[in-house]
Parts: sequence; C-alpha cells; structure tokens
Amino acid sequence: MSFSLSTHHENLQAFLNDRAPHQPEFHQAVEEVMADIKPIIDQSEPYKKANVFERLVEPERVISFQVAWQNDAGAVEVNRGYRVQFNGAIGAYKGGLRFHPTVNPSVLKFLAFEQTFKNALTGLPMGGAKGGSDFDPTGRSDAEIMRFCTAFMQELHRHIGPDIDVPAGDINVGAREIGYLFGAYRRIQGKFEGILTGKGEAFAGSAMRTEATGYGVMYFLSDMLKSHDDSIDGKTIIISGAGNVATYAAEKAVALGAKVISLSDSSGFVYDADGLTQEKIDWVRAHKAKAGASLAAYVDAFGGKWAKGETPWSLKADIAAPCATQNELGKQDAKTLAKNGIKAVIEGANMPTTADAKKVLSDKDILFAPGKAANAGGVAVSGLEISQNRQRQSSGPDEVDNALQNIMSDIHASCVAEGQKDGKVDYAKGANIAGFRKVADAMVAQGVG
Ligand code: NDP
Repeated sequence: MSFSLSTHHENLQAFLNDRAPHQPEFHQAVEEVMADIKPIIDQSEPYKKANVFERLVEPERVISFQVAWQNDAGAVEVNRGYRVQFNGAIGAYKGGLRFHPTVNPSVLKFLAFEQTFKNALTGLPMGGAKGGSDFDPTGRSDAEIMRFCTAFMQELHRHIGPDIDVPAGDINVGAREIGYLFGAYRRIQGKFEGILTGKGEAFAGSAMRTEATGYGVMYFLSDMLKSHDDSIDGKTIIISGAGNVATYAAEKAVALGAKVISLSDSSGFVYDADGLTQEKIDWVRAHKAKAGASLAAYVDAFGGKWAKGETPWSLKADIAAPCATQNELGKQDAKTLAKNGIKAVIEGANMPTTADAKKVLSDKDILFAPGKAANAGGVAVSGLEISQNRQRQSSGPDEVDNALQNIMSDIHASCVAEGQKDGKVDYAKGANIAGFRKVADAMVAQGVG
C-alpha cells in the first residue's frame, strides 16, 4: 500500500518498520485499519493537509515505569508498567489495564490504537489509551496482587485524572484489581474521584459494567443476524476464553436461546455437547477466580470433553466468538470453521482473528464482526460510569442495559452505513471508517501546536 507520506518512506510497511520497529501486533492493527481508510484520506484535502495519517499512528504519549513490589516471601520483584495515551482528540483518554507476561509496547500500542476508533464508535467523548504490566498474576496470593496493584498505582497516579485519563480493566484486571488500584489512588491523592471505571458498585461503580462487554457482543450479534433475517435463537455457538468477556457473552447467548458448546483458557478447551447453563457458567466464574485454576476441572464437575492445549475452532457450530486474546484464531482455524459451515465470526476479544484468517472468512462470504465494534459495550458502559461519577448519581441496571443496547445498535448501524461493499456489508471496513471520521475531524478542527 503506498501512502503520500511527508517522510522519505515509500510505503506503509517501510514507514512502520522505521518508526515502530519490532512491533508486529501494532503493525498488524495499523495495516488493517489503513487498508480501509487510505481512500478516505487520499480524497480529503483537509486530512492530507493536517497529516492525519502520520499523527494517527504516533501515540501522543507512551509512559513506561518501574514497578518494584514485595512478594510473600519478602523478596523484591521488579516489573515494568506502561500507559499508552494514544489519541485524545475526542475526549480524555480511556482504555483498559492488562496484567499479563505478554504485555509489551507493541501489544499496548495495538490495543490503544484500536481503542481510539472503538471509543469513537460509541458516540461518547473518550480518547484512546491502554496500559498494564508484564506482571503474571497466575498463582499469586491475594496479598501479592494487592501489593502489586498498590506499587503500580504509586507511579500511574501521576498520569491519570477525571479530565486526563480514566483507565479500566482488561485481561487479569477485574473487580478485585480495580478495587486495590482505586484504594491506592485514593490514599496517595487524598481524593475520591472517578479515575477508574469498573469500580465496585459500593464505591461509585456503574451497574452492568461487569456484564457490559460480553452482553454487548451478543447484542451486536443479534443486530447483525437480524439485518440478515436471522436470529441467535437456536444457534450453536463456540466461545473461547473463560474470563469476563467469554462468560458474560455465554450468559447472554444462552438467555437469547443459543446453545454454547465451548469455553477455553490458556490450558485448553472444554466441549460440552449439552450446552452451557447458568449454573455451569456461574461455576466457571467461581472456579477461574481461584489462583492458577485450569478450566480442565469443568469435566469433573459437569462432564464433556477436555482438549488439553487446544483451541475450540475444530468444533461444528453456527457462530464462533473468540473472546480470549489477540491472534488466537489463525488461517487454518478459519478454513476449518468454513468447512464446518460457520455462518458468522464475532470478535469478543481484541484482534483475535489474524489477517490471514480474516481473508479466508471474507473469501467465503462469512459474516465477520470486528472487536472494535462488537466488544465496544464495555467501554460504552465505562463512559456511562464516568457520567454517573460526574453527576454523583448512579443509574439502575435496567437503565444502563437499555443504554447499552441502544449504543450497540447505533454502532451496528454505523458499520452498515459506512461498510457497504458490492451490495453487502463489510463490518470491519464500516467500523474503521466510522471511527476514523470522528477522530480525524476532531484532529483537523483542533489544529497543531
Ligand atoms: P480475563 O482476564 O477475564 O480473561 C481472559 C481469558 O483469556 C482467560 O480465560 C485466559 O485464560 C484467556 N487467555 C488470556 N491470554 C491468553 C493466551 N495468551 N492464550 C490463551 N488464552 C488466553 O480477560 P477479559 O475477558 O477481560 O478479556 C478478554 C479479551 O477481551 C481481551 O482481548 C481483552 O482485551 C478484550 N476486551 C475486554 C474488555 C473488558 O471489558 N474486560 C473490553 C473489550 C475487550 P487463563 O485464565 O488460563 O489465563
């Protein structure tokens, strides 16, 4: 792909290799988005004049810091903490914190870049950011998690604030970690303010924030199927992951009449031909909350088959919902899904489908919903939590759930409006263009310093 760059680089790849070397996940995310928005930039004098392209792929700020903390044995361990404040054109930065050994600048830049467009799609005024640490919480005690969170906030507090940057959770950062992080901020700053979302409802958290991403995925799927004269009711669904997004997506899918036949974690996947029930999902949540617990124990509790070290994409189903992590569904998986007659792939995780796999799905005309649209429900309710904190009010679960459904429907409509291609809807293109326009227009309007 050639770009009219102000630099000497002859194409996007050369530009990225030079400006962001050794960052494969970030390159993957940029290349995917740019394929869709390049024609829009090329046709717009204001976008070209403001050099929107180069400014969009350069984070406004990358903060990296030391996190030194004491483990239960009294030894001091050192991790690296980050906050990538990618683009603040449409609002204060917003995006999750991830604690996982795979966290590095490439992964966080890809996530923060994607978050910028996702947040724009929600229609709420939030800029894009992401952060976290290479800390691995597997097998750590509750006291160690608390000390790590406290040490992490010891530095992060300088860079966040209600009008600056409001982080949330992501992989391995759930209600418990948000509680410890919030407590640390409050003690350091001596202020109770809305600097994190996903807080407990007892301390200014929003109803439905925990459920929002997974429920939103299924609301988006409902709209997508409805616009193709179909519905979730009666569908068989494969879900990967066994965390926040996966379990709440499963819960809503079951409530809407689907049969969910799998969940997975980093040790393998479980196949339950009878389908998950609310009881089984509740058990998974309680079980996975224990330090280092593997999903393998599911079959002892409920039967089914355990496939150690494998992903669930070989199962036969109508819908696949990857809800674990990036690049978990590859080209061969997509071919297997297509061979088995899959009708749609909906991304609950961020960028779980590789570029090769997306090409296979698109060649076979399989419906594809990108994460930046389908999983935007979490950040949307985070946006509502910010508003509730500002007004010192709290909304009830029904009110928030209705707002979430409306936002997901609006995102679906934006994808349809911008994603028309050969008489069909290319949802990835629609999401990229709709998110881009809002951010780019704000950048142009604000000029440069
Ligand atoms: P959780 O930590 O709650 O769950 C993550 C799940 O994915 C776990 O089952 C975990 O297995 C599995 N997993 C994590 N890393 C890997 C890996 N490298 N290989 C295989 N399995 C892995 O995270 P969430 O559910 O919050 O997040 C899941 C995805 O959804 C991420 O891509 C996240 O960015 C995205 N997302 C989350 C949002 C939210 O509101 N939470 C909002 C929007 C997107 P194990 O337990 O064995 O580690």
